[in-house]
Amino acid sequence: MSIKKVIAATKNAGKIREIKQILGREAEVLTMSEAGFSEEIEETGATFEENAIIKAKAVYEALKDKLSFDLVISDDSGLEIDYFDKKPGVYSSRWLGEDTPYDVKNQIVLDRLSGVPEEKRTARYVAAIACILPGGEAVTVKETAEGRIAASPSGSGGFGYDPIFEFPGMGTFADLTADEKNAVSHRGKALRALRKELESRGLIQD
Ligand code: IMP
Repeated sequence: MSIKKVIAATKNAGKIREIKQILGREAEVLTMSEAGFSEEIEETGATFEENAIIKAKAVYEALKDKLSFDLVISDDSGLEIDYFDKKPGVYSSRWLGEDTPYDVKNQIVLDRLSGVPEEKRTARYVAAIACILPGGEAVTVKETAEGRIAASPSGSGGFGYDPIFEFPGMGTFADLTADEKNAVSHRGKALRALRKELESRGLIQD
């Protein structure tokens, strides 16, 4: 069988765009709201993988008898800043206030790191992707992108913390085109790992 319809269990427009860029070639990718799911899902897991599975399962269970689809995919991701003991981590979207604009959050991060030398500004993005396969089995993949917190914000692409996340030799993630970011990002790597997994199960052709 080959997958035709995927539900992306996220409301984050930046994530949906990136999921479509990598899996949208062969399948239609619907957002949760396009699929008719509007409940809040509580992210109670302690790890990225646990939260990704919680989100994907919630959407799968709610829609499985209402709609025909092949896969549910969810991403739980975040930024670990080593100088802050890997915070915000799984709390990345809620940290400093869910509704606080990212230009404000990013400036707070830069202020808290003021005077901290480059070698101590290491950080990584982490993405865990959970996928519920036809039949209900869950698979997860996890990838990281290692970088540093920049000295000042730069760029207008991407989303979230991208203007302050510097990737070695490439500027910040917000300086990159979507394709350049996908080539090296945590989510791009995790989605490609998921593609491989789906290919090995004969669910998509390479
Ligand atoms: P989640 O929706 O609970 O998985 O939270 C993900 C949060 O991590 C986002 O709202 C951002 O704060 C951060 N994040 C994850 N991936 C990225 C990225 O690629 N760029 C910028 N911020 C990201």
